[in-house]
Amino acid sequence: MAGAVSHTIRVRFAPSPTGFLHVGGVRTALYNWLIARGQGGSMILRIEDTDVERSTEEAVAAILEGLRWLNLDWDEGPEAGGPFGPYRQLERYDLYREAAQRLLREGKAYACTCLPEELSARREAARSAKPAAWRLCPCRTAGPTPGRRRAVRFHVAARGRVGWDDLVQGRIEVAADELDDFIILRSDAHETPVYNFAAVVDDALMGITHVIRGADHIPNTPKQILLYEALGYPRPSFGHIPLVLGPDREKLSKRHGDVALHAYRAQGYLPEAMVNYLVRLGWAHGDQEVFTREELIQAFRLERVGASPGIFDRAKLDWLNALHMRQTPPGVLGDLLTPFWGEAGVDPKAVEARGRTWLVAALPHFVERAKTLLEVARAMAFLFAPPPVRDPKAEAKFLTRDSLVLLHEARRALAEAPDFSPDGLEALFRRLAETRGTKLVDYAQPIRVVLTGTTISPPLFPILALLGRDVVLDRLGSVIAPGCGAGRTGG
Ligand code: GLU
Repeated sequence: MAGAVSHTIRVRFAPSPTGFLHVGGVRTALYNWLIARGQGGSMILRIEDTDVERSTEEAVAAILEGLRWLNLDWDEGPEAGGPFGPYRQLERYDLYREAAQRLLREGKAYACTCLPEELSARREAARSAKPAAWRLCPCRTAGPTPGRRRAVRFHVAARGRVGWDDLVQGRIEVAADELDDFIILRSDAHETPVYNFAAVVDDALMGITHVIRGADHIPNTPKQILLYEALGYPRPSFGHIPLVLGPDREKLSKRHGDVALHAYRAQGYLPEAMVNYLVRLGWAHGDQEVFTREELIQAFRLERVGASPGIFDRAKLDWLNALHMRQTPPGVLGDLLTPFWGEAGVDPKAVEARGRTWLVAALPHFVERAKTLLEVARAMAFLFAPPPVRDPKAEAKFLTRDSLVLLHEARRALAEAPDFSPDGLEALFRRLAETRGTKLVDYAQPIRVVLTGTTISPPLFPILALLGRDVVLDRLGSVIAPGCGAGRTGG
């Protein structure tokens, strides 16, 4: 490794845009980002889109959107200035061809004109033979067959063992003769590079110092190391982080529930909670569970990433999300709720009509009981319109003939209440209960069922105050009025 070695850390996230952004991939991005931000380094985003059959622009958009939502920014891009677009491998084919040409010139790669059927026949034969038998593509010695399109195959010349000190897994080595001569450029008209080759050329030209990626790439690393050596590039450090598994210890997949980042966004998880949750899937800092972003930037160390897989635990994510929601100032939370009203069946105009001060006062009562923003919006729906349906069980139990009498009385008292604040209302209901020799809850539950449609809601008096006298009288009136269907006796 001659020449000046830069000590500035340069890391990258290099997703293939072939589907949604998987939460496991997001964790890889996050670890890289934290390393860059914690150590004054640079974060590169590179879209590995050479698989044109499977890559889509939609998937590219999902990657960019997801990273932006989580506030995981990157520092460079192909165009000057910024904000930068990502690097895209499709725009860099000349660089891969150039590098392959160099290997061909230096005898470190050769043209391979084997037909697919010849390759599969040999692969079949190699199953029973030693792996080394397959590695010797006949083109290596016999030369290409004229008249056929050529691919470029790397000549594995190494002997002994190929290994590296993995920053997460420790020493990893394989025997060089387990490695076949492998294709680096395909025979198609574009001379499409394979992943291992494009990634090495890019990581080298982009000056990546630390390649941090999922453990599923460990089998690729020996080949990449041989390519670094053949191309005369300095070798970066490698760190392979254990995969994220489902509760059954199988690789986290759709079978386990949501694996796409956007699904979590759509359900109202906060970006800060997602970051906090994902970082802990495989990394620990004492027994601290809750982190601000600044704390993570300070505390994160790749050396503290364990070599055993992280198990995705939805209940813990819910817990963290609830916690981060409670830590978010209600004013900010109010804005974050905007995209969720529609999904919760609330007319956003009704929310706007109530105004910001009202919303900020209402939110703490609901945030206490919810795991996601969507749950908050749903729980608040009754504030903006009467519940479209009432829980039949709650109705049967609490909207009885007896309770109608109490509702009647409560409505009359509420119409005249001099003080419609939570405290004033509580005092009013205590007086009513005392006078009648009954319990507060005998009033509270029927009122709650009428106003909210269920028996579960935040404490009643703040709810009455938030709804306001007119709405409360209106809703109670609709039940008390004859012919409204209420007053069933629970049968
Ligand atoms: N495109 C590869 C992937 O999405 C990147 C692997 C790497 O980081 O080298 O898995």
